[in-house]
Formats: sequence, structure tokens, C-alpha cells
Amino acid sequence: MGRVLVIGAGGVGAVAVMKMAMNPEIFTDITLASRTLSKCEDIAANVRKRTGVTIKTTQVDAMDVAATVALIRESGAELLVNLALPYQDLALMDACLEAGIHYLDTANYEPEDDAKFEYSWQWAYQDRFKEAGLSAVLGSGFDPGVTSIFAAWVRKHKLDGIRLIDILDCNGGDNGKPFATNFNPEINIREVTAIARHWENGDWVETPAMTRKVAFDFPEVGEKNMYLMYHEELESLKTHFPEVERARFWMTFGDAYINHVTVLQNVGMTRIDPVMHEGQEIIPLQFLKSVLPDPSDLGELTKGKTCIGDIITGPTAEGEKTCYIYNICDHEECFAEVGSQAVAYTTGVPAMIGAAMMLKGIWKAPGVWNTEQLDPDAFMDMLNTNGLPWQVVELDAHPVF
Ligand code: NDP
Repeated sequence: MGRVLVIGAGGVGAVAVMKMAMNPEIFTDITLASRTLSKCEDIAANVRKRTGVTIKTTQVDAMDVAATVALIRESGAELLVNLALPYQDLALMDACLEAGIHYLDTANYEPEDDAKFEYSWQWAYQDRFKEAGLSAVLGSGFDPGVTSIFAAWVRKHKLDGIRLIDILDCNGGDNGKPFATNFNPEINIREVTAIARHWENGDWVETPAMTRKVAFDFPEVGEKNMYLMYHEELESLKTHFPEVERARFWMTFGDAYINHVTVLQNVGMTRIDPVMHEGQEIIPLQFLKSVLPDPSDLGELTKGKTCIGDIITGPTAEGEKTCYIYNICDHEECFAEVGSQAVAYTTGVPAMIGAAMMLKGIWKAPGVWNTEQLDPDAFMDMLNTNGLPWQVVELDAHPVF
């Protein structure tokens, strides 16, 4: 059905191309490109071993727009799937516009020298994509991505609007390491050390990072401490669902993780400004990344489950109702299927499904879209048939926390 160019041979890229290869009637031709060619080749070998499908591999610096445009033309791709880092989003959107192909990513743009992420930079491409007759889908991972599609589906089928939404991201997995992040350490640590913000009664409310802690009993995982955090889908959900009164995001962390991040922050290792070290400039957080475990090596070690979903309350003809919609994913089952742990799996699968929606022409309107703006039904069906089945239950009331 379509030719795709995937940029980024990390944990998420590895899962996405594997799942594309498992859907050969949709993804008829797959090219994987990254900064380091050997990483693409390792992934291609794993894809061939598990699925028998051969994917093409090549090297590219995604910050180099001209090089990416040349690669797009050479690959004949009609869709670029950006699974590199948030720093590359704008360069890759520029390349798509110049080469005339569609775009999809899983994380919003963030300047490298400022730990600040927001959609304004990418939303500013709206007119250019519309005029070119091209689509750009932003944030088609799990969160953002599935959590926003869950909200759109609940709003379409269960409620007449959304008054309260809490997004709960629980990783009940254990990799046996004293400290390791389960996706790119630099992006992960920038995210968790940022001030927590949530949307309430028409305004952002700020709380110091990692200070608001609540225990929650997650289905199939059990009780875990979750922390209030800022997450990018809050910005798009409150914009596209303007009736939302309160939107919050919570993520679970164990005490050991919190202790490590606190110490690293206190000693200055999470800084992103350059410091001089033996006559050479280094960025402490980037140095830290190079000594931490590589998340894509954790698959074999990680046991336990993730449970990510939304608790949503809103009006219906019979009065207000509350729904809890979630997916459970087992780290060991993911590893057995594709050779990666559940955090990469829960991001790579929705990236593949979003790409399938675009290649199938189900998500085809020209312009720049967040996933909650698109029809959720076919995407929700593909979650069930591609390894991320979901459940929705009605709760008596919105939990108080
Ligand atoms: P990794 O660090 O494992 O992989 C990123 C890949 O991008 C690496 O292979 C790296 O190249 C490549 N890359 C970086 N810079 C360039 C460049 N200039 N040109 C070409 N390739 C480049 O990250 P993850 O796989 O963990 O995460 C991928 C993306 O997914 C991130 O944007 C992350 O924020 C997002 N994400 C989204 C989630 C969601 O639910 N929405 C959840 C988790 C992650 P190389 O190694 O070849 O040098």
C-alpha cells in the first residue's frame, strides 16, 4: 500500500519497523535511516530473522534538511516517520515540505539548549502543510498518542464532553539496575525534572517537580506511587477539547529512581548548559547519558507490566459518568515478540498504527494534527489486533486525589 521512511534507530524505531514488517500489506517498502548506520543494520537483521522481511538501511543526519530531502527522493517514500529525537522535528518537517511527503512523529519539538517543549513551533506549520496538501500527525506514541486517542474515543462513544481527565502512566516493570531510564535518558530526565503543570479552570497551575505524590492501585500491577508531572498532551487536549475543566498527567516512579534523580540534580549532573572539563566543553546531562544503560539493551532484563490510560469524567444524557480506559502491556511478552521492552513497544506500535492510518488514507486531511483531532475508531481497532489491547470500565465517580 505504501512506502515509508523511518528516521531514528533507537528503542522506539526498532519496534516500529518490526511491526511495520509484520503488516506487509500496508508497508510495502521500508527504509530505516539514522545517524549511526550500524544501528540500522542490527535492527534490519533482527527484522529479517523474525519476519523474513528485508528493509533498506542508510545513514543520515536528520538536522541536514538537504540530505534528508535527497534521501526521501531516493527512497520514493510517501510518508516520513520521525523516531529520532524531539530536536529534529522541525528540520524533518521542513524536509517533508520540500520533498512533498507526509510526516508523523511521537514527541513535540524541543530546542536542544532549552528544556522547554511546547507545540507552538510545530503548530506554526499548519498553513504550509495545508497549502501543500500534506498531513503532519504529531505525537503518535502512547503518551502522547494513544492517551489522546483514548480521550477522543471516550468523547465520541461514551460521554458528551470531557470535564475531568487524569492520564495515568504506570510502569510496574523492574530491570534489576540501580538506575536506568526506560527511554532516551536525556529526554526522560529533562521531562521529569521540569516543573509540574496541570490545567485547571482555564489556567496552568504550577507545582515544583516531583513533589505531588499519590498512591494508586493499578489494574494487574497493584499499588504504586505516581507523581504529578507536566506532559505535552495536556497542552493539545485543553486546546482541542476546550470544555476540559481539569487535565492532569501522572507517572509512577520507585523511591530508588526519585533518590537517584534528586542526587544527580543536586550535584549538577542534569544541567544542559555547557561546562568546561579539562579544557573541553561538555554538557553534563549528555555525559550522564553516555554512562547510563542504553534503554534498548534493557529488554532482556525487564520483568513486569505497564498500565497506561485515562480516567475521564463528563456529561451524558443520564448524568455525569466516569470511564477508565487503559492498556496493560507485559515487558517479557514484548521481548519475546519483538526483542524490546514494553516502553519502546508501547511507543513503537502506535507510531506504526498512526503511519498505517496515513498510508491507508483514513487520516488524510491536509494540515498539522494532534491525534485527538483525528477519528479514533480504526486506530483503536488496530491497537487490539497489533499487541496493545485496551479495556474500558465505568467507575462510580472520578477518584479524589
Ligand atoms: P533513542 O535515543 O533510543 O533513539 C533515538 C535515535 O535517533 C537514535 O538511534 C539516534 O541515532 C537517532 N538520532 C538522533 N539524532 C539524530 C540525527 N541528528 N540524525 C539522525 N538520527 C538521529 O530514543 P527512543 O527510541 O527512546 O525515543 C525516540 C523518540 O520517541 C524520542 O523523540 C522520544 O521522545 C519519543 N518517545 C515518545 C514516547 C511517547 O509515548 N509518545 C515515549 C517514549 C519515547 P544514533 O543512535 O544512530 O546515533
